Amino acid sequence: MHLLSIEDLSDAQIATILDEGERWFAYNRQPRRNDRRLDGLTIVNAFFENSTRTLLSFEIAANRLGAQVVTMQVAHSSIKKGETLEDTARTLNAMRPDALVIRHAKSGAPHDISAIMDCPVVNAGDGIGEHPTQALLDAATIRQHFGRIGGLKIAICGDIKHSRVARSNAKLLGRLGADLRFVGPPSLMPPELGGGSIDAAVDGANVVMMLRVQRERLEDDLGDAPGEFLSRYGLTEARFAKAAPDAVIMHPGPINRGVEIEGPLADHAERSLIVRQVEMGVAVRMAVLDLLTATRRG
Ligand code: ASP
Repeated sequence: MHLLSIEDLSDAQIATILDEGERWFAYNRQPRRNDRRLDGLTIVNAFFENSTRTLLSFEIAANRLGAQVVTMQVAHSSIKKGETLEDTARTLNAMRPDALVIRHAKSGAPHDISAIMDCPVVNAGDGIGEHPTQALLDAATIRQHFGRIGGLKIAICGDIKHSRVARSNAKLLGRLGADLRFVGPPSLMPPELGGGSIDAAVDGANVVMMLRVQRERLEDDLGDAPGEFLSRYGLTEARFAKAAPDAVIMHPGPINRGVEIEGPLADHAERSLIVRQVEMGVAVRMAVLDLLTATRRG
């Protein structure tokens, strides 16, 4: 089994990952962790795009389950000598890993690689495609906080067009019964996902999820003056005041403070779940690695 898209998961598997994620979250807060269920397995991380949270949390998740973890040094690899991604995959496959976690700038790259690999492949973000483990950790964080997802009003705001996080969350949170609203600058909105103003989207929302402008994926610079994005499309104190009284703020990171969100809102002690999302990321990735390697462990 691979995890390339939210669509690869059954409802029962989603429920297992969320339940187990919450359990691992509590487990990770213990002073010593000695679970060894992935003992004897080798997990390879191959990140062809930058990452802090996703890469480190996959490394920590695999380590906490007792696996041997190898992270490919892409900048020092034969990719730089002209080797194709497919040939790199054949090389990795020959080393018999038990799971491959891959991030790549090309949408669909993990899918192409999964046809070559004999082990489970996890998509850790592919271009503007999907980022399924981010959506799973977002769902787990929301459910842990509110005790439910169904019926919550969730506003997802910013560069929707280039966001693999938005795409995976549209599938997952929609399936779990959330009332989703997508909003961003017209040039960064896929028409099928709606539109409207950020003020209308945030009004009464229980969750406000802000996204970074993916400037590395823009063909033309947005041409926005300093402060313009925040005042037109970002999360300000004044806008957040219109959200539901119990509203929380989320962001997959990395944050561009003062661009899509005012810094103090990102740090808000009661309302911001951004650091909680990172903590849940390790826990949910433990649940994902456990599920995907279960058949290999007999
Ligand atoms: N870290 C997330 C991703 O890799 C979001 C972002 O980069 O803005 O998609």
